[in-house]
Amino acid sequence: MANKDQQFVTSAVKAVDFPKSNLPRIAFFGRSNVGKSSLINTLMNRKNLARTSSTPGKTQTVNFYLATDNSYQLVDYPGYGYAKLGKKKRAEINQMIRTTVSEIDNLRGIVQLVDGRIPTQPVDLEFEKFLNQVGVPQMIAVTKTDKVKKSEIGKLENRIEKDFGENVEMVEYLLTSTVSKRGITDLKTWISELTNF
Ligand code: GDP
Repeated sequence: MANKDQQFVTSAVKAVDFPKSNLPRIAFFGRSNVGKSSLINTLMNRKNLARTSSTPGKTQTVNFYLATDNSYQLVDYPGYGYAKLGKKKRAEINQMIRTTVSEIDNLRGIVQLVDGRIPTQPVDLEFEKFLNQVGVPQMIAVTKTDKVKKSEIGKLENRIEKDFGENVEMVEYLLTSTVSKRGITDLKTWISELTNF
């Protein structure tokens, strides 16, 4: 695959093809369209990161990127729960995620993105539970919070705490936005605490 992205390391569909790494890694998960590419671009201070296409029929790869300061690698998983992909393809992606996450060499943390504009989706809770069992620190990044009215932010926080604290001990969460840049510094700090040692 042609790729001019200097920070692009590799892409793989099978764990056996995941590159080994001396660098710590942080993996990113979320439903398609949750804002994962935008968030990864923001974390990498980039406008256009080569992105996995969510187009039905295209190979859904796990992409490895080197962070701007070369201190860690970002592992970008294909979006789950994309309706247009159809049931079979969706199931394949879910299965791929489930069988490969524990195979990521040097994984230090997991960021799970959930869309702050819509109610909690069952598939997000399923993945929260699964990702929690991987055994590395987990952060819920609530996305697109610039679209949430100030007066609704408290309600959003309560809902996230209630829904995501129901099945597993409450994992950490951050309200984020790539538009207003809310939460970005905090997320960077969380990542650097997990990767700088
Ligand atoms: P992905 O499919 O998870 O990689 O999602 P993208 O990053 O491609 O974003 C999906 C859509 O949500 C695009 O139209 C983005 O412009 C939009 N989006 C992403 N992040 C934000 C955000 O923080 N605020 C707002 N308002 N829109 C966002």
